[in-house]
Amino acid sequence: MSVRRRTLLKVIVLGDSGVGKTSLMNQYVHKKFSQQYKATIGADFVTKELQIDDRLVTLQVGFEFKSVFNIWDTAGQERFQSLGVAFYRGADCCVLVYDVNLMRSFDTLDNWHDEFLKQASPPDAKTFPFILLGNKIDIDGGNSRVVSEKKAKDWCASKGNIPYFETSAKEDYNVDAAFFCIAKTALANEHEQDM
Ligand code: GDP
Ligand code: MG
Repeated sequence: MSVRRRTLLKVIVLGDSGVGKTSLMNQYVHKKFSQQYKATIGADFVTKELQIDDRLVTLQVGFEFKSVFNIWDTAGQERFQSLGVAFYRGADCCVLVYDVNLMRSFDTLDNWHDEFLKQASPPDAKTFPFILLGNKIDIDGGNSRVVSEKKAKDWCASKGNIPYFETSAKEDYNVDAAFFCIAKTALANEHEQDM
């Protein structure tokens, strides 16, 4: 079987600081998890190759831009704005992450959703693909969770049936499945590149 085209898909991961964006990426790409928290400074990008049917796909996943925003907010807004647009531009899918044990991280989802649409300004905001991940479901065996699956799914329904996955970056639960769905969704909204 020959693969003629390489498809580059750009995915942006957003969510409050500490919800597990870096950990999900580390688990997905490197199969590693660390309990230690290190705030990401700057925009991080990782790539991962995968095959979907007969297509060779390179996922380019960007996350953590907001950390820069927070830190540089007062220092240099113009710099942020130009960087910001480059970070979001051309995205094929946006992944929103919250922590099921932290209501605030769920409450801010609307802001992340709106901010993405504002910055990326995709041609059709109504149909642009998002995916929601509820992370850290392993904590305390689920006893400390404050956002129910139903509440999360209701939010997804209100945004036009966004796919929803509950994940644990720590226990590698549902991480592959979530990113496979992300890749497929992004592929349906692709920007193709000839090899
Ligand atoms: P980010 O700021 O969104 O990138 O969050 P990080 O990936 O840096 O994670 C923040 C903290 O939460 C770190 O201490 C991680 O070890 C921890 N963490 C991330 N994902 C999980 C998870 O699924 N389960 C548990 N128990 N801890 C997690
Ligand atoms: Mg991080």
